[in-house]
Formats: sequence, C-alpha cells, structure tokens
Amino acid sequence: MSQPKRYNTFSDELKRVFGCKVQRISVDAGFTCPNRDGTLDGEGCIFCGGSGSGAYSIRPELSVAAQIEDGKEIMRRKYRAKRFIAYFQAYSNTYASVERLAALFGEALSVPGVAGIIVATRPDCLPDDVLDYLARLGGQTYLWLELGLQSIHDKSLAFINRRHDYACFLDALQRAGARKIRVCAHVILGLPGETREEMLAMAGALNRIGVDGVKLHLLHVMKGTRLAEMYGQGEVALLDRDGYAGLVCDFLELLDPAILIHRLTGDGGRDNLVAPLWSLNKFEVLNLIDAELERRDSRQGLRFSPSR
Ligand code: SF4
Repeated sequence: MSQPKRYNTFSDELKRVFGCKVQRISVDAGFTCPNRDGTLDGEGCIFCGGSGSGAYSIRPELSVAAQIEDGKEIMRRKYRAKRFIAYFQAYSNTYASVERLAALFGEALSVPGVAGIIVATRPDCLPDDVLDYLARLGGQTYLWLELGLQSIHDKSLAFINRRHDYACFLDALQRAGARKIRVCAHVILGLPGETREEMLAMAGALNRIGVDGVKLHLLHVMKGTRLAEMYGQGEVALLDRDGYAGLVCDFLELLDPAILIHRLTGDGGRDNLVAPLWSLNKFEVLNLIDAELERRDSRQGLRFSPSR
C-alpha cells in the first residue's frame, strides 16, 4: 500500500467526495483561444504547442461523448477507475457562447459514469453570463474551473506573451468566487527572468487571494513553439530535475494546507517534447518530491502563516 502524501492531493479529494477511484478524461471540444486566433494575437503563449497547452493524447476528430467513452476504457484498464471527470483541457474552454458551452458540457455529463466536469480556460474568457452558467452547472454536478495564471509577475506574463495581466486573473477569480465556483490556478515554475524568491512569492499570493486548488507546471519546451526557438538559440535555461523537486517542496511548505494540489509536474507528450527530457518520467519526479519532503520531515503548509 502506498504511503499517504505529505500534500493535499486532488485524487484523495475525489475519493473522499465519490467514495471510489475517479479519473480525469481529457477532452478536446474544438475550442480555440483568443491568443491564437488573432483576436489578441496569432501566435499564442510562447510555450503553447499545437494542442493548446496540454491534452496531447486526445482524438479531437471524435465527438465529446466518443472521446470520453474511449478514455473510460483506458482509465478502467490502467487505474481501475469506476467514475470519471470530463476534463475540458485543450485551448480555452469557455471561449464560446453559453448555448454552445451548455451543449458540449451537457453531452459530456450525459455519458454514463461521468460524475463531474473540469473546465480549463483563460481569465479573460469569463464574461458574467458564462460564469452565471458555470455556477448553475456547479449546482448540478461536481465542477472545477481551471484558470491559467502562470505567474503573478506581469513582467513574466509579458515575456510568455500571455496577453493578460495578473489583475485580469484576480478579477476573474473574484467573480468566480462570488458565485461559489471552485477555482484551480495553473502556475509555471522556472520561467526565465524570475528569481527563486519571485517564484516562491507566488505561494503566498495564492494563499491570500483564495484559490481552492493549484496545478504546478515546470517550464517545458514543446516542438514548434516560440519557446523552442528561444531554447535552440540558448536564450532560455531550464531547471534540472533535483532543482525542480526542491523548488516544489519549498513551494508546498509555504502553501496553505487547505489548497488542493491538482498536479505537481508538467505533462508534455513524448512525441512533442524538446526539453527537459527528465520530465517524461513523471513518477520519478513525484517520487523525488515525496522523498525530499520525507527527508525534511516536512509537508504542505509547514511554513504557512495565515497572516502573510
Ligand atoms: S492561453 Fe492556453 S491555449 Fe491560449 S495560447 Fe496560451 S497556452 Fe495556448
């Protein structure tokens, strides 16, 4: 039997809520993104690969329901999952009318065994009518909103060509919170130009602004991206594996223990990843983080202070 984690995992939360093994199934519902379709920019964030930052194994040619049915078989075999969360992961999954969102999310929730939904998006794709709809949906099913923050530092958001600032994230978070929608923030560790102190300052900020969950990504380079060009020209340096594990442990120690950890490492696909190749072995990275927390006899929130 595996040891309990020294941080507050999302998978344990799902077991508590549903009483059984629940797995996320990634879905590509054909959305795009204002940072890629020319509305804000045509190039997107410098790290954004062809599948909209994540979701590399999805078959977008299938309907939403068919993608989930496909995923159910895999999750049953691999993890003995009994129930499933539809994870709208690719691109910006609220970049459409409420009617279209309702049709797509409704299709996902009608698949037998689907117990909830996660909707990933940008903070500038959340007008009030969409948030009102998500709040209603959250009253009917288990719902999370994943919001791309990436950094609290506007210099970094400009560097990665995010095309929104931290204030935009705070505004979306406040309006989601007012509707009691659970929010998980995505944060990248290892952005060029950020000091270790600036990266760790994000833990304190997340505590203060009141997110419910956090997804940590290490900066990784995917083929065909602007970041890949910069990396090829020696303009960006990446964290090494031990350095990343240590940084994650420092981050966790500062984080409010009530915040759920949805992920602690990146998920670049083998076929498209340029670097760092060590990130392909996610279990090794997670084991290193566990071992380091154990070595320190530490845990999430060890250095958390509600007043900071
Ligand atoms: S917001 Fe997401 S989908 Fe849009 S360009 Fe950035 S990473 Fe890609």
